[in-house]
Amino acid sequence: MKTKPKILAIDDAPVNLKTLVAALSDEYDLQIATSGERGLAYASASPPDLILLDVMMPGMDGYEVCRRLKADPRTQSVPVVFVTALTEIEAESVGLELGAVDYITKPINVQIARIRIHNHIEREHMRQELQAQRDEMARLARIDPLTGVCNRRYFFEEAQAALARALRHGDALSVLMVDIDHFKRVNDEHGHPVGDVALQQVSARCVAELRSVDVFGRLGGEEFAALLPRTDTAGAAEVAERIRLAVATTAIVLDDGQTLWLTVSVGVASLQADVLHHKDITDVLLSRADQALYQAKAAGRNRVQIHEPLPRQGTDPVPTTEPTWAEPSA
Ligand code: GH3
Ligand code: MG
Ligand code: MG
Repeated sequence: MKTKPKILAIDDAPVNLKTLVAALSDEYDLQIATSGERGLAYASASPPDLILLDVMMPGMDGYEVCRRLKADPRTQSVPVVFVTALTEIEAESVGLELGAVDYITKPINVQIARIRIHNHIEREHMRQELQAQRDEMARLARIDPLTGVCNRRYFFEEAQAALARALRHGDALSVLMVDIDHFKRVNDEHGHPVGDVALQQVSARCVAELRSVDVFGRLGGEEFAALLPRTDTAGAAEVAERIRLAVATTAIVLDDGQTLWLTVSVGVASLQADVLHHKDITDVLLSRADQALYQAKAAGRNRVQIHEPLPRQGTDPVPTTEPTWAEPSA
């Protein structure tokens, strides 16, 4: 059975509430509040589909209740319909300006009131459905469909935001580049679908080693990257080693029960003072992690390599201890 839409009626006069109950309770689940304060408490505890609101009430009047409903994110989008004996244009415009969707004057014409209420609730339901669809589309636009982790574009967006925070607070920040070793062989020997399963399981192993504040994404093919806020080189190297070990010591299990052993190579790079003058710092960090990854591959794979800045002759080594790039706070 379909549940009835919920209406909260706020009115200080029992006789008015009685009328509303008589007119609406066959079609709606009617909750009543006899003061503005109680109405607000009910609404925020469990937002109804629509609120019928009296204007003149002792204590908090209907306008103030409406103002507060619209200021509270929990009740902001609940349609408010004023029900009042005030008929002056002024009073009506005040209510509508406060964000009410409609005005019903007393004495209530039950037939008209029912139709109006019905329409407002329908519209609100449609709005909610659209919003849910929009949220879902936004979510899908951010994830890699095969592995469910961030896609390349979203990873870069998140990386920019994390970088901005790190610079603002003078925090450490590191990135890892994770690439499956000899992955082409998996496809060649077992077929593309098995390669896909391997990608899913390797990415899940990586995620399991990360914190919720870390950002993990698939940059393409069998290459992944992790962004580790507030993590210096030593910390990042530890995480990288955990990932390497987790992949190397846990078999990929295929649908038919067969197992497959894979390894990854990981390149690590951290925010250092010498990248600060670059226009695209994220780019530099990722390319440094990529260089380290390349070295890990060249050195035999299944290993972690930290990016080491090459010391230029005649210059001091780049300071790499404490982050020192915090902008002075205003
Ligand atoms: P290395 O150890 O040097 O990284 O060697 P590799 O074989 O892992 O690297 P290479 O870049 O030569 O090959 C990557 C392979 O990944 C080639 C490509 O067919 C495969 N690949 C890329 N995307 C996908 C995908 O979505 N699914 C599957 N199954 N394979 C993919
Ligand atoms: Mg590879
Ligand atoms: Mg590759």
